[in-house]
Amino acid sequence: MSNKTSVSVFWFRRDLRLDDNAGLYHALKSEYPVLPIFIFDKEILDKLADKDDARVTFIYQTIEHIDKELHTHGSSLQVYYDKPENAWEKLLKEYDVKQVFTNHDYEPYAKTRDEKVGKYLQKQNISLNTYKDQVIFEKDEVIKDDGKPYTVYTPYQRKWYQALKPFYLKAYPNKKYFKNFFKTNPLPIPSLKQMGFEKSEAEFPKVHYKELIAEYPEKRDFPAIKGTSHIGLHLRFGTVSIRELAATANTFSQKTWLNELIWREFYMMILHHFPHTATNSFRPEYDRIKWVNNEKEFEAWCKGETGYPLVDAGMRELNATGYMHNRVRMVVASFLSKDLLIDWRWGERYFAAKLLDYEMASNVGGWQWSAGSGTDAAPYFRIFNPDSQLKKFDPEFKYIKKWVPEYADFSKYPKPIVDHAFARDRCLKAFKEALSK
Ligand code: FAD
Repeated sequence: MSNKTSVSVFWFRRDLRLDDNAGLYHALKSEYPVLPIFIFDKEILDKLADKDDARVTFIYQTIEHIDKELHTHGSSLQVYYDKPENAWEKLLKEYDVKQVFTNHDYEPYAKTRDEKVGKYLQKQNISLNTYKDQVIFEKDEVIKDDGKPYTVYTPYQRKWYQALKPFYLKAYPNKKYFKNFFKTNPLPIPSLKQMGFEKSEAEFPKVHYKELIAEYPEKRDFPAIKGTSHIGLHLRFGTVSIRELAATANTFSQKTWLNELIWREFYMMILHHFPHTATNSFRPEYDRIKWVNNEKEFEAWCKGETGYPLVDAGMRELNATGYMHNRVRMVVASFLSKDLLIDWRWGERYFAAKLLDYEMASNVGGWQWSAGSGTDAAPYFRIFNPDSQLKKFDPEFKYIKKWVPEYADFSKYPKPIVDHAFARDRCLKAFKEALSK
């Protein structure tokens, strides 16, 4: 007989909350006391270039908060800084793990990781029980009548609403079962420094969305006003429940904001069914485009020094805050992939490094939409004119004044790095050539 304690384990990943958490709910209802764990994954952290990456600080602070909450239930979070398979080995040496619970993750790396861990646990006769948590509908739950996945948003959205029943929006009542957490003294958490990171001074948006849903349709396109929720970071790490958001949004007669949450699910479904789109064009013919890939121009784009004020304002907002307004994301992405003819993957990687709300499915989806290579893409000949976009969406130059103050004095502001009319022509030729082969 082993003298190790028998436990069920709940493995937190991008679902960092105790309440209304599907996998944790099922763990708490299982036969054994629940030991919650979190793994700071070396595979991921070691690849991050910025040692004060704000997202790591956000995760860290959230983990500390969860641990404190667990203390009030006589429990604690077991935290590892390791490769997942090593962390699991250590865990199994210490505890008699009976069952493991966790929530689905649809990114290619996560799927491979979970498959590996699942096999390892199976060898030890431990079951891995996984649940849908971060979306209302996943995988094959909303598909075409012929059983194939949708690749166009509007019919997907229609089917999504048809499939919606109150049950899908119901919160999991985790609180009722908090007494079932494994009882232990507080367990140590490795410090940020031990993991090679420093605390970021970034400010994180609060969860604040109900008040803006009613006016969202009128306000959402203007980057100078705070007409959108900035909730992406919380959705990314699960510090808010999608069921709560969708249930609230569904009580409004106009569904504009809910439709955006459905876009998020649409892209997750696409990434699940077409994992190659993480690195390749959804439409393969777009991988034949001869990109110019001028490194100096890429650098000017990254720094917000292109001479196009809306592009520059967006890039500077991103660099300074980790956020960029959706309208401006579309403009800077179109400018990079079409005006500068730089491979959309360069821009996708830059956004991945900088966005607080970086989410592979939506980022790849947004970039491929802008480049014309993805699902639902705008036809390639529809090229945003950055100056007309500015006139339309920042007519009083409020957003520009904030991020590009020198624009007020033309002598101080750089000349455009490329002429839009010339660039438009060049882009049409390059795309036509690639697509007509
Ligand atoms: P709101 O307007 O308040 O919307 C609420 C939530 O709905 C968002 O937080 C997001 O989860 C979801 N949502 C809104 N618009 C979209 C959309 N077009 N596609 C998918 N989900 C959406 N979104 C990300 O979450 N992560 C990314 O890495 C990301 N990269 C993008 C890259 C490009 C090139 C483009 C054009 C868009 C990208 N988006 C991404 C989508 C969108 O720009 C952001 O979700 C939105 O700007 C976030 O601001 P918010 O939280 O205030 O959104």
